[in-house]
Amino acid sequence: MNRRTLLSNAGLALAGFGLQACAPRRVATATPQAPAAPRRPMIYLPPVRVSAERVIRATVGLRPHRPSGFVLKDARLDQKTVIHNYGHGGSGMSLSWGTGAMAADMALGHQERRAAVLGSGVVGLTAARQLQRRGFAVTIYAANVPPDVTSNFSLAGWTPTSGLVETPRRTAEWDAQMREAAAIAYRQLQFMAGARYGISWITNYGPTESAEFNVPTNPILPAALMGSATMLQPGEHPFPTPYCSERPEMRIEPNIYLPALMDDVVRFGGRIVIRRFESTRDVMALSENLIVNCTGLGAKALFGDDELMPLKGLLVLLPAQDEVKYSTSGGVNIPASQRGLFIHMMPRTDGIVLGGTSQRDIWTTDVDEAEKQRIIDNHITLFRSMRMPGAPAPSPTPAAARQ
Ligand SMILES: Cc1cc2nc3c(=O)[nH]c(=O)nc-3n(C[C@H](O)[C@H](O)[C@H](O)COP(=O)(O)OP(=O)(O)OC[C@H]3O[C@@H](n4cnc5c(N)ncnc54)[C@H](O)[C@@H]3O)c2cc1C
Repeated sequence: MNRRTLLSNAGLALAGFGLQACAPRRVATATPQAPAAPRRPMIYLPPVRVSAERVIRATVGLRPHRPSGFVLKDARLDQKTVIHNYGHGGSGMSLSWGTGAMAADMALGHQERRAAVLGSGVVGLTAARQLQRRGFAVTIYAANVPPDVTSNFSLAGWTPTSGLVETPRRTAEWDAQMREAAAIAYRQLQFMAGARYGISWITNYGPTESAEFNVPTNPILPAALMGSATMLQPGEHPFPTPYCSERPEMRIEPNIYLPALMDDVVRFGGRIVIRRFESTRDVMALSENLIVNCTGLGAKALFGDDELMPLKGLLVLLPAQDEVKYSTSGGVNIPASQRGLFIHMMPRTDGIVLGGTSQRDIWTTDVDEAEKQRIIDNHITLFRSMRMPGAPAPSPTPAAARQ
């Protein structure tokens, strides 16, 4: 293995906060005390202009988390079949085409060719499309449609294991479902790259004090589903940390992607009906006998799933900056009290998105002003400390020496 390139789950560890699936371990790629001499020309990046005054909006979404992972199974309820497909945590934008395909394959085992899909977030919309591809006539019933769904408050990148599952709760059966779903989804999303769906590739930089990759000891996914990362050496990147990971990141723009999916559902003869279900009795009153439940966090009250809980996530948006064509994961000089909280920047058509919160079991959608300030402050520090053309090269200083 090239010591600067890791074809493994490194991207998984780099990709997300709220990653509870795997205990990370360090894999050395270079000796930290003796950084390698630069081999690539220095990369200069235009900084993001961050300040509290430039914020155009803040959004809050509640990721539908279950410690034992998403639910994908069929069940009988009175005379009807209910196929459950919910609980995708911080990974729904990534995985939904996969679990949708598997839910639709389960539906093929039944006589009915008319299906009701509950929910019009990314999980419901993609499940509807997978059913239509298999010849089903689909009606989506949902209390809310985009942009007023959690899916629209997503960052969103390819983060298939973020906030999804807790390692002690994983089973071999669930892992197998997860691997299949991720493989289907990763391939499908790549076919959709382009302006119509708002999917594109972007280079992600992760400034770090260590030359080591954070690799989970018990990875769920094979390396091929996570992409490769390279560790840039001092003098090869503009951040004040000695090292910086570099990897391709898939970007999904919810404001483009979700309306395009709704269009597709309707173009293929589907209907979208605004309707809130208060109880399973309401669901049983539907005329369809085949029901695919994609209600996300709503499944807690509707189907009595006590395991479901939110991971509250806040995004802070700044005006778009056309020259910013890269994303970042992680920050620099983050105080010890804030370590472990990830920060993340993604440039999109609708603005520069700053994120980095995952508050367990917090149900309010109020903006937490202290968290908002933390995200802003840490990004100000990150972008102000970037090296500009002509500036002298800083000598790499290990974090410990700076404290
Ligand atoms: C800050 C943040 C960042 C994120 N970043 C990423 C990322 O980078 N990559 C990634 O893959 N994922 C990311 N996610 C996670 C992703 O957004 C979720 O996993 C995904 O949106 C879940 O989709 P869903 O369709 O299950 O839920 P939702 O989008 O919440 O949709 C649920 C649907 O069900 C309907 N519904 C619920 N209850 C009822 C009821 N009783 N009656 C009728 N309808 C009902 C709702 O109205 C809605 O239409 C992020 C989330 C947040 C908050």
